[in-house]
Amino acid sequence: MRPAALAGSVLESDCSWQRFPIEVTVAKFLADGMLGKLARWLRALGVDCAFCNGAPDDELVRRARQEDRVLLTRDRRLAERRLLRGRVVLVAGDDWPDQLAEVRRAFDFSAEIRPLSRCLECNTPLEAAAPAEVADLVPPYVLKTQRQFLRCAGCGRVYWAGTHRGRIQATLDRLRLHGLESPGDPPGQKKEEV
Ligand SMILES: [Zn+2]
Repeated sequence: MRPAALAGSVLESDCSWQRFPIEVTVAKFLADGMLGKLARWLRALGVDCAFCNGAPDDELVRRARQEDRVLLTRDRRLAERRLLRGRVVLVAGDDWPDQLAEVRRAFDFSAEIRPLSRCLECNTPLEAAAPAEVADLVPPYVLKTQRQFLRCAGCGRVYWAGTHRGRIQATLDRLRLHGLESPGDPPGQKKEEV
């Protein structure tokens, strides 16, 4: 089997586990403790990415299999575990844009990109909330100037487009430099669907 699906410039040598392309069908990830920033940016793009900080390797393996997730790790020994065949990406890049591009080469999650649809902190899908519902949770000036709010049922955080839209758009612009593009509508329009 060709390793092309996972072959990045950094990964092309000495990666026996690359013989096993990703077999998970739905783009769901689990990031290990060294990839917290990558997990946040996957979430910012709307991609399901759980995060396990400080969990033992066995727990990461168990959870990835139980929840049918692709494990993202910088630990080569962990990536080579037999039980993770077909569901692991060994992330080599040091910066999150490079890491995102690596993950996308291994598993194209472009169709899942829906910016600002998932909580950056806890990965829970966000729900639309009326201004009156979040009046006590956001600063007064935000309540005056924003009309669209999103709330996380998991941790209670409230998001509004004004601040986050610009950051995510800037991120997408940067990612395009790395060959990672969102198909379809611009993210500013997609956000209205949330
Ligand atoms: Zn949350």
